[in-house]
Amino acid sequence: MAGTLTVHAEGEEKVQTTNPAQSGGGESRSGMHNPKVAGSSPAPATTKTMRKRGLCDLNDPDRPNLIARLPGEGKAPPLLLYGHVDVVTTENQPWQQPPFEGKLIDGYVWGRGALDMKGGVAMMVAAFLRANAEGLRPPGDILLAIVSDEEAGGDFGAKFLVEEHAELFKGIKYAIGEFGGFTLTIGGKRFYPIMISEKQVCWMKATVRGLGGHGSMPEKGGASAKLARLLKALDENDLPIHVTPPAKMMVDAMASALGGPQSLILGQLANPALTDFVLKTLGSRGRTFYPLFRNTVSPTILHGSSKINVIPSEISVELDGRLLPGQTPDDMLHELRAIVGDDVQLDLIQFDPGPAEPDMSLFNKLADVLKESDPEGIPIPLLLSGVTDGRFFSQIGIQTYGYLPMTLPEDFNFSQIIHAADERVPAAAIEFGAQVIYKALRRFG
Ligand SMILES: [Zn+2]
Repeated sequence: MAGTLTVHAEGEEKVQTTNPAQSGGGESRSGMHNPKVAGSSPAPATTKTMRKRGLCDLNDPDRPNLIARLPGEGKAPPLLLYGHVDVVTTENQPWQQPPFEGKLIDGYVWGRGALDMKGGVAMMVAAFLRANAEGLRPPGDILLAIVSDEEAGGDFGAKFLVEEHAELFKGIKYAIGEFGGFTLTIGGKRFYPIMISEKQVCWMKATVRGLGGHGSMPEKGGASAKLARLLKALDENDLPIHVTPPAKMMVDAMASALGGPQSLILGQLANPALTDFVLKTLGSRGRTFYPLFRNTVSPTILHGSSKINVIPSEISVELDGRLLPGQTPDDMLHELRAIVGDDVQLDLIQFDPGPAEPDMSLFNKLADVLKESDPEGIPIPLLLSGVTDGRFFSQIGIQTYGYLPMTLPEDFNFSQIIHAADERVPAAAIEFGAQVIYKALRRFG
């Protein structure tokens, strides 16, 4: 099992599926139609068949999605396992090992996607194939979906499947997806955060205007001065605190496991009157919790003059806004207006709604399976500050649990290694995750 799985993980990372493509890459290369990598049973669809079945957007047949179903006993709703095979760029990153060779060195598989998330896909595929090989009849059907395009918005992947092929997911209430299950050591305790909810994308544009003109004739108080005031206001002010149910569940679970003074401090994060005080007390750790208690805005792209000698009469800045679960773009615009004043035009560019309240029905079972495999581990609910394909599946009523169980060394900083140089994963962690997911497949009903 270990040998086969390592081959899967190494094989996957050898494939260039950078998104956006660096050299004409596409997820069709990831082995989702290659029996040697994806396993020979149940029969993986070929790209041609997938095209016939309409599982890839016909505008780009190199961006397919694979769906496989293992029939269950029909005693529980089907369970969805899904993962993406595209990865982010490696450009301008100083890698110690080549990012697309999937080398196994001292027990680690090195390569882009090791953590996000070809390693996770290897776990899911291994668990699924094992269930099939052993003739397992799980409580309900298991649907495995290997998707394209997560890293660039899901247009060819989960979004496409949900919008064009919702019928494939009929009856599914719960899914296992990415971002959760990796260990996080705090106060000597080993936590396994299981993602139960995520924030929502709320991208906006702020525009300021003033007199334009020739660069040789300076303009005081113009658009660039207003931009400076806008950016300063965003830097110096925080949006208001909101304590949402998933954030409260997360800190309560951590606090009760930690005990002692740490527990008292962490527990107060969910007290809106003290949240900011506790965030400051936590120092650099507070940075992790900051976005879990408020909507946030990060200015990212500036559009000003295109000529050095032309003073722009209009400057805009794109704002990467993220909403807490249950909050709306109107809430965000209202909160932002109070900070930036009336002289700034605010426009919503994109809103990807997510689920308002998590459905925790499957959480305890997933947590129990994890605890059996690592008795010292403490599974806790996780609210993710970023987003996953879970937001698309939530639109058809599916609750995702981010559950890729990986026991990592204490000094291994998961969140600093994903999307960065030297992405790697202990092969044993992938093996562990495959075992835990397999156990969950037997018992999810
Ligand atoms: Zn990912």
